Amino acid sequence: MPVTTSEIQIAQPTWGIAFPRPAVDAGGLPLRVMPLPDRLVVALQQNPGIAVKALVKVGALVARGEPIGITAENAFAGHIHAPSSGRVVAVESQPVPGLPASLCVHIEVDHEDRLWEKLKPRIDLASASTTDLRTAIASAGIVGLGGALFPASIKLDPDRQVSSLILNGVECEPRINCDDALIQHRSDEVLLGAQIMMQILGAQECLVALKADAKPALDAMRTALEKLGDKRMRLALLPPVYPAGGEAQLIQLLNDIEIPAGGLPWETGHVCQNVATAAAVARFISTGEPPSTRIVTLTGSGLRTPVNVETRIGTSISDLVEFAGGYASAAVQLSMGGPMMGLAVANDSLPVTKACNCIYIQAEESLVTQPTELPCIRCGDCAVVCPVMLSPQMLLSAQRTNDFDRLSELGLDACVECGCCDYVCPSHIPLTAGFTEAKQQQRDIAFERRRAEKAELRFAARSARQHTRESTAQQALDAQTAAIDSDPVKNKNVLQELLARVNKQDKKKE
Ligand code: SF4
Ligand code: SF4
Repeated sequence: MPVTTSEIQIAQPTWGIAFPRPAVDAGGLPLRVMPLPDRLVVALQQNPGIAVKALVKVGALVARGEPIGITAENAFAGHIHAPSSGRVVAVESQPVPGLPASLCVHIEVDHEDRLWEKLKPRIDLASASTTDLRTAIASAGIVGLGGALFPASIKLDPDRQVSSLILNGVECEPRINCDDALIQHRSDEVLLGAQIMMQILGAQECLVALKADAKPALDAMRTALEKLGDKRMRLALLPPVYPAGGEAQLIQLLNDIEIPAGGLPWETGHVCQNVATAAAVARFISTGEPPSTRIVTLTGSGLRTPVNVETRIGTSISDLVEFAGGYASAAVQLSMGGPMMGLAVANDSLPVTKACNCIYIQAEESLVTQPTELPCIRCGDCAVVCPVMLSPQMLLSAQRTNDFDRLSELGLDACVECGCCDYVCPSHIPLTAGFTEAKQQQRDIAFERRRAEKAELRFAARSARQHTRESTAQQALDAQTAAIDSDPVKNKNVLQELLARVNKQDKKKE
C-alpha cells in the first residue's frame, strides 16, 4: 500500500544503525497463545528501589484479576493482580529477569481460571471523568509495556498541556517482534486505547508510529485506521533505524525537537505510550479486567522455532520455551530484551514479568568471543552513530580517569546506553558498559552528597535549637534577677529565704 497524504514519512536520521531485518521475521513472527501453566510466579516489584507489599498470604485462594500486591510509595503505580486462579503456595523474594531480587507470589494454578467476583464492570467512557479513568488505569496496574514499566497513569495527567499522543509501535531493536504481532492481530484494540488516552490528556492529535518496513503490521494498522475514521489519528512511518523507537528519539524524529538534558518527555507537549500499553488500557476499560497476559518474542539461535507467544504473566521461561518447541542446543545463553540492550537472565526457571518483551536465546556455539580491546584510534565513528549527539571517545577518557565533573560536562546523563558506539568501534572498546558503570557511580556520589548535605542540615538545625533553648533560659534568668533587684520587698524575701535555708543546714550539721 503506498504512503497516503495523511501519513507522515520520517527521513533517515544521521545517527543510529540500520540493522538488516532477519529473514526469519521479515513478515513478523507468528503469534501463538499458550495454555495455562501449573504454576505462576508473579513479581510484585517491577522497578528497582520501589517498595512493594504482598496483599495475600500462603494458603490464600486467589482469582484472576484479584489484587495480590501493591507498590507502597506511589499511588499511581497501582496494584499487581493474580494472572489466574489458584492457591498461594509461597510469598518470597527471588531473582526475576532484570532485577536481582523481587518479592514474588507463587500461585499453584487450579486451571479453572475464575475471575475475581469483586472486579468492577466495564467503565462507561461517555460518563467517566478524566480523573475516574486515570485512577482506574492506575488501580489496574497498567505500566509501559515497551520494557520500561513506567506507570501509564503518571504520564496520563490531564493537567499537563499535551498537544499530541504518540503511539510507539516502532520496536527498533533487532529480533524483538511482539508489538508487530499485536498490531497485526489487534490494531482495533490499540486504537481504542489511544482514543481513551487522548480523552484523558485532552490531546488533539495521535501519531501512530510504526517502522516503514513492517509491511503486514502497516497494512493491519491502515485497515483499522480507515475503519475507525478518526481524523485526529495519523500514521507515521519511521525508518528502520535503531534506536528510533526510544521515547526521546521518537519525539525528536516526529517533532524535530530535542528533550533538554534532565527534562521529561511530556514537558515537550507530547506523551509517548507503547502500543501494547494502549491495548491493555482498551481491554481494561472495556471489560474491567486488569492485564494478566503479555506477548513475548522468543527468538535466537538457541531456539528451535522463533515465535511470539501470548502467555500469563508469571509463566516460567522454561515452560514458555517448551511450549515454543524447545531449545535447539544443549547449552544456551538467555537475555531479556534484544541483542543490543538485553539483560542477562541467570536461568530459565525465572518468571515472565510485565517487562519481558523478548527472551533472546543464543546457542553457546553461536556466541562470539569479545575481540581483544585495542587503543582508541580517534576515528569518530562512535560519535556519528550516537543518537544523543555525545562524544563517546571523550566520555571514555573521562570515565577511565574517574573524572566525574568532566563526565557531567560531556553529558553522560543523556546516554541512553543503546550500545551503538560499541557496535561500530573498530577497536572493540566496551564503551557502553563503562558508561553504565560511570552513571551508577555518579548516582552513588550524588546520593552520598545528598546524605551528607541532609546530615549537615540536621546538625545545623539541632545546634540552632540548642542555642535558642540556652539563650531563652538565660534571658528568663536575667529577667528574674532584674525583677528581684528592682523590687526591694522581693529582694528582702529572697534574702530571708536564703538565711533560713543556711540556718536549717547548720542545725542539721550540729
Ligand atoms: S569508535 Fe572506538 S576507536 Fe573510534 S573514536 Fe570511538 S572509541 Fe575511538
Ligand atoms: S551508548 Fe550512549 S554514548 Fe554510546 S551511542 Fe548510545 S547513547 Fe551514545
